[in-house]
Amino acid sequence: MARASRPPHIHKFGGASLADAAGVRRAVEIVLAHRPARQVVVVSAMGGVTDALLEAARRATEGETSHVRAAAEALRTQHTRAARALVPAGDRLDELLSRVDAAVDELKPLGGGLGILRELTPRTIDYLVARGERLSALLFAAALEAAGCPVAYVDATDVVQTDGTFGNASPDLRRTERAARRVLPPLLARGTVPVIPGFLGATPDAQVATLGRGGSDLTATLLARVLGAREVSLWKDVPGLLTADPRIVPDARVVPQVHVREAAELAYYGAKVLHPRALIPVLKRPVAIRIRPFADPASLGTEISRRRTLEQYPVKALSAIPGQALLTVTGSGMLGVPGIAARTFAAVHHEGISVSLISQASSEHSICFSVPAESAQRARKSLEHTFEREIERQEIDGVELRSGLATLVVVGLGMAGTPGIAARVFSALADAGINVIATAQGSSELNLSLVLEARDAARAQRAVHAAFQLSKIGGGAVAQPERTDVVLLGFGQIGRALAPMIAKVKHKGLTLRIVGLIDRSGLVFDARGLSPRRLVALAAAKAKRTALAKAPGGRRASAGDAVAFVARHALANPILVDLTAADTTETLKAALAAGMHVVLANKRPVAADRRSYDALLAAAQSRGRRLLLEATVGAGLPIIDTYQKLVESGDRVLKIEGCPSGTLGYLFGEMGRGAPFSTALRGAIAKGYPEPDPRDDLSGMDVARKALILGRLLGFGGELDDITVESLVPDGAERLALDGFLESLERFDAAWAKRVAAARARRGVLRYRAIVTRRRVRVGLVVVEASSPMASLNGTDNQFIFTTVRYKKNPLVITGPGAGPAVTAGGILNDVLQLAGA
Ligand code: ADP
Ligand code: ASP
Ligand code: MG
Repeated sequence: MARASRPPHIHKFGGASLADAAGVRRAVEIVLAHRPARQVVVVSAMGGVTDALLEAARRATEGETSHVRAAAEALRTQHTRAARALVPAGDRLDELLSRVDAAVDELKPLGGGLGILRELTPRTIDYLVARGERLSALLFAAALEAAGCPVAYVDATDVVQTDGTFGNASPDLRRTERAARRVLPPLLARGTVPVIPGFLGATPDAQVATLGRGGSDLTATLLARVLGAREVSLWKDVPGLLTADPRIVPDARVVPQVHVREAAELAYYGAKVLHPRALIPVLKRPVAIRIRPFADPASLGTEISRRRTLEQYPVKALSAIPGQALLTVTGSGMLGVPGIAARTFAAVHHEGISVSLISQASSEHSICFSVPAESAQRARKSLEHTFEREIERQEIDGVELRSGLATLVVVGLGMAGTPGIAARVFSALADAGINVIATAQGSSELNLSLVLEARDAARAQRAVHAAFQLSKIGGGAVAQPERTDVVLLGFGQIGRALAPMIAKVKHKGLTLRIVGLIDRSGLVFDARGLSPRRLVALAAAKAKRTALAKAPGGRRASAGDAVAFVARHALANPILVDLTAADTTETLKAALAAGMHVVLANKRPVAADRRSYDALLAAAQSRGRRLLLEATVGAGLPIIDTYQKLVESGDRVLKIEGCPSGTLGYLFGEMGRGAPFSTALRGAIAKGYPEPDPRDDLSGMDVARKALILGRLLGFGGELDDITVESLVPDGAERLALDGFLESLERFDAAWAKRVAAARARRGVLRYRAIVTRRRVRVGLVVVEASSPMASLNGTDNQFIFTTVRYKKNPLVITGPGAGPAVTAGGILNDVLQLAGA
């Protein structure tokens, strides 16, 4: 058979890589570049599709048919849009579109039916979810064919045979081998590339079952095994297998090579990069599996093979399993009684629950083991039932359950031969103040597992990662190529000033690109970066009030959906810059959770109520991402930076006083020189100084938000409502529509002229001032003496006066321009550069 002579190279493209037409096109190029070698292509569902189908199924059982309908339409759009972009008009395209329509239309009545039945069997779920991979494979095959490559769509059920466990089927090696060798080699011999949906297999009675989340990896390695392949490329949105989950440990690095057993251990213990059972088919085979960066096809990523390298690193990588609970069976009666352990695990096994860590104290007083939190109660009941008599006789005290835990897993082949590894792990955790609740070392000494409080898991991973200097592995090549992908949320004046600045940054070894723009209507996105020309064109369109959704290449989406869409792509060191003036807390949390850093010019999320602000900080912290907000207070002035430097150097800031409004500063300056209020305000608007609604500035709320942000730095525990704010919005003007207000400005001129004159009579000038201490925050209009530093402020200048323990008699004063798109964009750019590692 041809198999032995020229085995194929198996490529698997993950969902994150196939998020849209551009992703599919890039994958097609990868396959074309490997021709004429023999290849088999396995694909996941397009990014987000499996999650969307599962969510729709769940909502359907709750009777939310409208959600199912909306989800179905979103799937139709995602696939249709990609199909039209990849396949030229004609029969092929029509056929593909009708397959999409059929798969989508089938969801709708099903949604209705489930709503009535309120029940969802694993079989139905698999039937629903399978369409994700099938559509993706049909699309891929058509795109590859359109690019001139002979292809054949091969359904997974014709090749992969399983035991039929819906939702988590195990492949049957023998039957798969038989089927695959019948179907695939003839195609390969003709130079045809088979394209196969991953994640799916046939049950013994020929229905479709899934292999468990992430199962496409398993499809690929299984096919490698049965076809005798020597090479498997798993194309993913990461640069390789990393020393830790990059969303949690930011300085995670690519491990150039790992042993299959190490990789299998990591996958089994929660490293989301590989399906837990993906390596089983190839454990003893001479196959090299590569985890390769889709964003950088020339790079080799990580080789998973049977070689042993990097021996100076006894620990190679970490992972953590969230959502764990610990069960402990204790009792003096256990001493020396044979069979307690066996009965314990038999009881748990009987419930079909898998145990991930076991430890028994040598005194044999207790057995303790961890299980997934959702099965903990069931396990406990089953144990109490098993030991009913022993508990009655008080030989066993009972079964104790502790939840809210996580298991940290430290992996490396070298651990076996190196003394003191466990001690180093424990002391790293102790230094970080983290308590270890239970621990176990596998007898292979390949892994060390530690049970911790779930809330400590992220910190623990960072601490152990640092203790073993894992950021230096492979020569310390950075996990992310030296590229930073920026997404602008909001493309108003500031965004349009910022975009060209980012495009112009020249810094050695650093590439900054804008990959996405989001506004209220939708987004424009290109994972390869939006070219400066395109940015200029989009800025021009936007300045003429064309919504991004209507711009060339634009698509409609809510801000939340747009961020979710962007997050599904293979981005490098992604940063979301919030330039809106809206309440974006939820969107930002989603971005942080997806591993993006956040830079804020928008004050609202940080001046929101304390709980929501804390939740935002917690989201950043738990992901190891940063939230920078310099531009929220003094535009381009280094206010927060100065505060931090003072504190780091041991000083204590007692009070910050200032005029943090460039807009109001400009107004008072102009009025002081005799301009009427209406003229001064219109001038400010023309120069782009005020917030979108200038009443946000006049009401003092914008200053109050800045003051609250500063107050929170100093430890002020209150809310925006606790700040005394004096409003300058003329009586009756609050209720006007924005346009109405702007048309009637002259009505207020006389009252303002009077105020200015009164101040002048007292030899002073009007200023809008904030005074911030730990205890109290106040903002309002004051008359300051003509000789004071505040009186000397010019134009839009802001001023901040820091009174600290060191600068007590002679406070530290920072003065400079504090409003306007250019200076604000400059402040934001500083934060972006800091995150890019400049
Ligand atoms: P695919 O697109 O092939 O399905 P996955 O999303 O399943 O890829 O796997 C890649 C993801 O795994 C990455 O986005 C990353 O966040 C996560 N991950 C967790 N641990 C690791 C690790 N040690 N190395 C690389 N990626 C990891
Ligand atoms: N699409 C499936 C999932 O999201 C399988 C896979 O991607 O491997 O779990
Ligand atoms: Mg996966």
